[in-house]
Amino acid sequence: MIHSLFKIKGIVQHYSWGGYNFIPALLGIENAEQKPFAEYWLGAHPNHPSTIVDSELTLSAMIKEAPGKLLGPGVSKNFSSLPFLFKILDVRQMLSIQVHPSKESAIKEFALENEKGIPVNAPHRNYKDENHKPELMVALGDFWLLHGFKDEARLKEVLRDKPAFNFLLNVFGEGNYRALYESVMTIEQEEVDQVLGTLLQPLISMYEKGQLKKESEDFWAARAVSTFCKDGHYDRGIFSIYFFNLVHLKKGEGIFQPQGMPHAYLEGQNVEVMANSDNVLRAGLTDKHIDVKELLKHVDFKATVPAVLPSGNDFAVTYLSPAQEFELHSYQFNGQQEMVVSQSPEIWFLLSGTATVKVEDVTIELNKGEAVFLCPGSEMHISSGKGELFRCLVPLGVKN
Ligand SMILES: [Zn+2]
Repeated sequence: MIHSLFKIKGIVQHYSWGGYNFIPALLGIENAEQKPFAEYWLGAHPNHPSTIVDSELTLSAMIKEAPGKLLGPGVSKNFSSLPFLFKILDVRQMLSIQVHPSKESAIKEFALENEKGIPVNAPHRNYKDENHKPELMVALGDFWLLHGFKDEARLKEVLRDKPAFNFLLNVFGEGNYRALYESVMTIEQEEVDQVLGTLLQPLISMYEKGQLKKESEDFWAARAVSTFCKDGHYDRGIFSIYFFNLVHLKKGEGIFQPQGMPHAYLEGQNVEVMANSDNVLRAGLTDKHIDVKELLKHVDFKATVPAVLPSGNDFAVTYLSPAQEFELHSYQFNGQQEMVVSQSPEIWFLLSGTATVKVEDVTIELNKGEAVFLCPGSEMHISSGKGELFRCLVPLGVKN
């Protein structure tokens, strides 16, 4: 018999950019070898599903076995499996600048690459699946990222203030974002080296002496050189550090990355929820495949004012986004007892403290770093003396 509530265990991704301590401490794992712990995944991703604690089964296998019970009618109708992936990230080294395609383009381009006979796992394959990848993140402490293009006035100011960028003022003109971006993404590497060399040479020593502040693009550009430009060449992704909004999120604040929004995580820890997809088009600061032509097809070339989702001081915070696949809530327990009724499959994750969750005759004690899966239509009682919980579910109402 399948219970309506059970403990699940995720998997760790040891990408090289990950931190050494945060995720091991959260999960209670020793990391004597100092391996990078970049991401902790909870969900039913086909290649990396969570497992059910005290069982041989994965969450995906259990969903296949009993989709009605685990997904419910609403989610079964719209999605074939759990539509979201819940992650904890620890960004020690900045991630690639990236953009995610729309669902329509993902379907079209995925089929095209199949027709061309490019294996799905080939390094130069752009589209790994037919899905879009809206992402929502909540900072677990100070978090730095790049998010969309600066507004016209600020971007002009940057091009004017940095003599090395002056030649781009005409290209940008009265806000031609596409021309500006296309220009730096397609100029010869020799020119990239010359422009960025002039700009960054003096900054690198300042960075090394600790004279640059994280509030300045120069800090991240100099750090990018020390991280990515080991072969004497400059990574053209560094232009984006100056063109995009540099955003500093405080603990509990969130931000949403819609399709076409260029972004990059620079540093910090977060909770991230996203649609189940691996479709990423990259624009630099990476050793992975970059397809500039394909990338330019998907970038939304417009000014962005970052819409930071507030942390609030309340017991419960809802992080709203337009995504159909997920909705994220957080709770700060301080002795309360709560009852929730789930309408969709849900994942609950305990970030700190302890908590007790109960559905009918199943009671589970949660420690920091532990998670449960909750079936739709369940009445769950939660109590916690002091505990920080995240809850991810599938919104069933119509969103716009
Ligand atoms: Zn992304």
